[in-house]
Amino acid sequence: MSVSTLVDNHGRPINYLRLAVTDRCNLRCFYCMPEEGIRYLPKKELLSFEEIERLITVLAQMGITKIRLTGGEPFVRTDLMKLIRKIVTIPGIQDLHLTTNGVLTAPHIPELKDLGIASVNLSLDTINRQRFEEITRRDEFDAVMKTYDLLLQHNIPVKINAVVMEEKNIDDIVPLAELTRQHAVSVRFIEEMPFNGEGSHYPVLHWTYKKIHAHLQAHYPGLTKIPDPEFSTSYQYAIPGYAGNIGIIAAFSRTFCGTCNRIRVTAQGTLKTCLYDDGVLNIKELLRSTGDDSVVRESLMRSFQSRVKDGFEAEKKRKDHQPAHESMSTIGG
Ligand code: SAM
Ligand code: SF4
Repeated sequence: MSVSTLVDNHGRPINYLRLAVTDRCNLRCFYCMPEEGIRYLPKKELLSFEEIERLITVLAQMGITKIRLTGGEPFVRTDLMKLIRKIVTIPGIQDLHLTTNGVLTAPHIPELKDLGIASVNLSLDTINRQRFEEITRRDEFDAVMKTYDLLLQHNIPVKINAVVMEEKNIDDIVPLAELTRQHAVSVRFIEEMPFNGEGSHYPVLHWTYKKIHAHLQAHYPGLTKIPDPEFSTSYQYAIPGYAGNIGIIAAFSRTFCGTCNRIRVTAQGTLKTCLYDDGVLNIKELLRSTGDDSVVRESLMRSFQSRVKDGFEAEKKRKDHQPAHESMSTIGG
């Protein structure tokens, strides 16, 4: 089958799938999950590896070229490496990326390198051990830093994801940015979004992308705008003389919807064509109800052709109008 560019009803190319392989996690980052955790899905409610492989094969035939595995914590899913070994062989898939908290990742880094992993996003909101434990409610700082060091040693492109949180890690913004002095990494500061599974969020977000930028600019007067990669959700900056770069992601302000090239499949096997929607297609049911890939393809295409314009429209259309009841660990970020 020939692959053409997949384009949505607003003329935006779609080529990127983010897939949450589990909703389970070994950390409890307070902006993502309540302390007591969420009610995890029974394992049979997750897509099986065979179903994921089938779905990615169909999507690759439709024009998806880039995959990101996320979660929950992807490495909490038993035998994740088996799935990764399969995905890299699917025709049409050019890049495989991972988002991980780094707790269980280190032993798999040499194989990830051998398999040609395109990049790893490592979540790290602080480089202060005590604050790490306050934010994640777990004492796993050393394991995460070991993963960071090994990723660098193996020359795997690394992006650090740091959620910026009032009264939690503002003092960490500069120390995190300082990682880019010696290391060719991208440190991305992310606006906190309302997906914490608690049903609560600030009425007004204090640390917006503008404020994060002003904070960095005050500390680094030479901070310079550099070109953003195509479809990037992050505004990219460089500090003169530093090896890496800085990103700022307006995830709550939603400035990037006009070029959104991504779709998501949640841990429960639901398609989201916008991060802020509450699911537009039950893919798990679809895959389990038919062995005919053309039926799957047609349903997917219908969803791609009725995408909302932006995250504000998606939020308005939600049945609950309340993203905060959802945990990011089921969506995948
Ligand atoms: N467990 C993995 C990790 O933490 O990297 C992958 C899943 S996690 C849900 C994916 C990304 O979503 C992480 O970088 C995390 O920081 C981000 N995230 C989670 N909740 C968020 C929120 N409320 N606002 C902004 N980013 C959030
Ligand atoms: Fe787990 Fe990632 Fe959510 Fe933290 S952000 S609780 S590591 S899924």
